[in-house]
Amino acid sequence: MTTPSIELKPSSTPLSDAEREAILANPGFGRHFTDHMVTVKWTEGRGWHDAQLTPYAPLSIDPANMTLHYAQEIFEGLKAYRRPDGSVATFRPDANARRFQLSARRLAMPELPVETFIDACDALVQQDKAWVPEHGGEASLYLRPFMFANEVGLGVRPANEYLFIVIASPAGPYFPGGVKPVSVWLSENYVRAVPGGMGFAKTGGNYAASLLAQAEAAAKGCDQVVWLDALEHRTVEEMGGMNLYFVYGDKIVTPELTGSLLAGITRDSLLSLARDLGYESAEGRITTDQWKRDTENGSLTEVFACGTAAVITPVGTVKSTGGEWTQSNGEPGKVTMELRKALLDIQTGKAEDKHGWMHELG
Ligand SMILES: *Cc1c(COP(=O)(O)O)cnc(C)c1O
Repeated sequence: MTTPSIELKPSSTPLSDAEREAILANPGFGRHFTDHMVTVKWTEGRGWHDAQLTPYAPLSIDPANMTLHYAQEIFEGLKAYRRPDGSVATFRPDANARRFQLSARRLAMPELPVETFIDACDALVQQDKAWVPEHGGEASLYLRPFMFANEVGLGVRPANEYLFIVIASPAGPYFPGGVKPVSVWLSENYVRAVPGGMGFAKTGGNYAASLLAQAEAAAKGCDQVVWLDALEHRTVEEMGGMNLYFVYGDKIVTPELTGSLLAGITRDSLLSLARDLGYESAEGRITTDQWKRDTENGSLTEVFACGTAAVITPVGTVKSTGGEWTQSNGEPGKVTMELRKALLDIQTGKAEDKHGWMHELG
């Protein structure tokens, strides 16, 4: 696979400094987009070509575009952080690039070379560097690479034409008022993914399937839904769009990757980072019965969720058809907060990057 070089066609009318600063003062999440985007095309026979950085703009989509009908679509999410010296770095973009290939394979799409994925993200961050929030807080520039079938027709088959795009959106701190535990609903009526399905792929379809369950969780008074295995509804898989960790004293355990879980890069990083901090870390199987029992007998001391958007989120109250219980008195746990700080310190350049996770852009 050859990697096309990106032709730079920047905007002649980017937002003014004042307009951009006003957005950066209160960016929220996924509401504002930077001045540019990167697009790369793929067509049968030609492969990847026509890589361009252009002004951010709407696309013109044919009503019979295959993606609108059959959802052949995948995406990624990663962040660029401002470092103390003013430079900018992204967190493990190579891992996102490889997962993007894995997702592509599952959805019968062409694989984008790792190098092209990283080049596209780098080009956008370089161009829109002024959009990366200042060092100091937990704000960042969220990158959203995605790819979809771009062929017109209603026949059901893999498309022979695709479009890869990267857009970027400034993201404020996830917990502007301080870290607060979320309440969760253990979902038995709905499942996110089934064995042999596409749970390990980052694809919009998995999110479409999650919305009704999320609404059910909200109706039960919970912030988030916890996914259980599809066959028995007993084994814990994930929380919303995040992976889960169970803290047993000085050991942290995360559900093993059975194929129906999404292999989070935050999850993977924490397996190593916890060991650096002197904790034991492991992958394993945790059932809902065990979750309740071990909380009640005091051996399970904390539970948290992790993912790029929120980094680490403590879990407070758990509600289910089998009862209700509360983790670490509804307060953010000590191990949870220690890991959260350690990871954020690496990402924002405050702590040494022993694992070579940061990709520096200058
Ligand atoms: C993206 C995602 C995660 C978290 O992955 P990160 O790489 O850590 O951001 C977890 N679960 C689901 C379902 C996801 O889509």
